[in-house]
Amino acid sequence: MSFVVAIDGPAGSGKGTITKLVGEKLGLINIDTGATFRCVALNMLQEKIKIEETDKIKDMLNRINIDMMENGSIFLNGKDVTKRIRENDVNDFVSPISVVPIIREKLLDIQRKIAEGKNVIMEGRDIGTVVFPNANVKIYLDASPEERAKRRVKQNEEKGIDTSYEEVLKNIIDRDKRDSSREVAPLKKAEDAIYVDTTKMTIEEVVGRIVDIINK
Ligand code: C5P
Repeated sequence: MSFVVAIDGPAGSGKGTITKLVGEKLGLINIDTGATFRCVALNMLQEKIKIEETDKIKDMLNRINIDMMENGSIFLNGKDVTKRIRENDVNDFVSPISVVPIIREKLLDIQRKIAEGKNVIMEGRDIGTVVFPNANVKIYLDASPEERAKRRVKQNEEKGIDTSYEEVLKNIIDRDKRDSSREVAPLKKAEDAIYVDTTKMTIEEVVGRIVDIINK
């Protein structure tokens, strides 16, 4: 038996930070599904595979090995790519590749296997709708695009990555549009998910709210 908390929402809604903190508080294993899409995007960039090269994608997916460590590090084919998958070339490529059905199918399989028999808090875009439609708790986190861009710029600054507000806001709006309008597993709130607008909330307030929801 496993216990699954699904956290969905757009880029910059605070999913990553909140999921990590709530997971630590409640002893749930934290799974960042966006990182698995980022690994596939990076692997395609490394092997210079284009989106339309279906056979090459299939071959790459047969060989790919993604490991998520308990300390949050991500390994792609045996190499630590935790930082690398947050760089701009991956940011720009990840949303386009995430609409490719064979990539989603493969990652669906990997994501379900990672959670098997464990108590997890899993964050992504389609966790409550597709990956775990029977999750014990479903939460949809949201915030205005401007607030999300502000948070991303600050996060990047802390990591020493130099980005402008305008560039980040544009990337967020483009990704929202693409993630919400794609045919396969679009970003949308599951009917039975609890909607939390974090625009005016502090991190502590959001964590408290979600811990309350899970405990209930
Ligand atoms: O969460 P993060 O910003 O790292 O996700 C990167 C991209 O991966 C998203 O913009 C989206 O295109 C894709 N993704 C997805 N389904 C998920 C998680 C991420 O399509 N469950």
